[in-house]
Amino acid sequence: MNAKSKPNSLDVALHQLGMAAEHLNLDSGIHEVLKYPKRALIVSLPVKMDDGTIKVFQGCRVQHSDARGPFKGGLRYHPDVTLDEITALAMLMTWKCAVVDIPYGGAKGGVCCNPKEMSQNELERLTRRYTTMISDLIGPYRDVPAPDVYTDEQIMAWIMDTYSLLKGYSVPESVTGKPIILGGFKQREEATSLGVAFCIREAMKHLRMKTKDCAVVIQGFGSVGWNLARILHTQAYRVIAVSDSKGGICSTKGIDPLKVLEHKGKTGSVIGYTNTKQVTNEELLELRCDILVPAALENQITRENANKVKAKIVAEAANGPITPQADEVLNEKNVFVIPDILDNSGGVTSSYFEWVQNLTRERWNEREANRKLEIMMVKAFDDVYGISRKRKTDMRTAALILGVGRVAEAIKTLGLWPS
Ligand code: NAD
Repeated sequence: MNAKSKPNSLDVALHQLGMAAEHLNLDSGIHEVLKYPKRALIVSLPVKMDDGTIKVFQGCRVQHSDARGPFKGGLRYHPDVTLDEITALAMLMTWKCAVVDIPYGGAKGGVCCNPKEMSQNELERLTRRYTTMISDLIGPYRDVPAPDVYTDEQIMAWIMDTYSLLKGYSVPESVTGKPIILGGFKQREEATSLGVAFCIREAMKHLRMKTKDCAVVIQGFGSVGWNLARILHTQAYRVIAVSDSKGGICSTKGIDPLKVLEHKGKTGSVIGYTNTKQVTNEELLELRCDILVPAALENQITRENANKVKAKIVAEAANGPITPQADEVLNEKNVFVIPDILDNSGGVTSSYFEWVQNLTRERWNEREANRKLEIMMVKAFDDVYGISRKRKTDMRTAALILGVGRVAEAIKTLGLWPS
């Protein structure tokens, strides 16, 4: 996908909001409120590099809505970060938290940098500077950051430490996605994938499909893709193809994700795993299968290739892997699309679990946590599915109606001050 044909993510987000507003017959004033972030802070971050020079990085924190609770959202380190993209992602977080009905609003942060070219020391200095610059905006009851693209639990630990030093006491509930030793949540790593697996199971029930032997294709073999492959493999699905940035592998007999992971560990890619055929990432999306899971990047299924998708279910584990034009094609083809704001909401739900445990100084056991996740995901799926049946819409429109509707209702109930 070249940059030219990539849709602007804020345009897409505003289009989706407009669609939901129309279905909800939303008050034009409330629609206007929801179009803009409540607050956005742009920061310049001078950082001393290892060679002694000073480099200035640009960053931001965008807070879209806190009508339903504190802002919540990831922090992204990437050379292509733009204010539009971060604003769109903050808006999507607002809807996502509302769809899965957790008491958060939506936010997102970003720093324009290339972490692959920076040392750990440089990343630490950058993170601590960024945290200091946004410290007035964040906090356990204000805005709770979490990891996103190219940020990890170590970066969350540095944010927690910097924030705690500024406060003068330890505040583990100031971030989620922390290392377990600092109050992080053991199941966070697999929670997103577990949530995707619950959504796929519920969709299959409605479509009267049987799990056994059901052929699954997964694009992306990172945290979400690998964990999902492992979970579905143990549930008797047949994972026939997976891929990473270098390409994909396919075997109609099915592959063992654990063995593929071992192979990737040794060689750096899934490619070349024994008894599989090599496919490109483009070919992978067009393979004959029952379930297709894009779990890598945005804008993977486009107007150009949507017609070639053969799956009955497409489960959006990644954020925004289907363009709006491709969505139309898939709907015409009667493909059951589980939209990202529902499908991958297990991630933010596990962040919510971490925050609650930190606030109450409790530790839940694995069974208890997974059971709570299942209850919340199934309820969210049922709510969205119910709306899609009632209003005769696709699942994405239904999810947006649910998310936007809940936030609009909260804003209306809070009232506008001064009145
Ligand atoms: P990750 O970095 O661990 O893995 C990404 C995978 O995609 C890697 O296997 C990488 O090789 C592969 N990839 C990169 N470029 C590719 C390409 N051009 N074609 C095919 N594969 C490619 O990331 P992740 O945490 O697994 O996240 C994946 C997606 O899920 C992202 O869109 C992320 O925003 C979304 N998501 C993740 C979580 C979470 O909990 N990790 C939660 C919600 C949403």
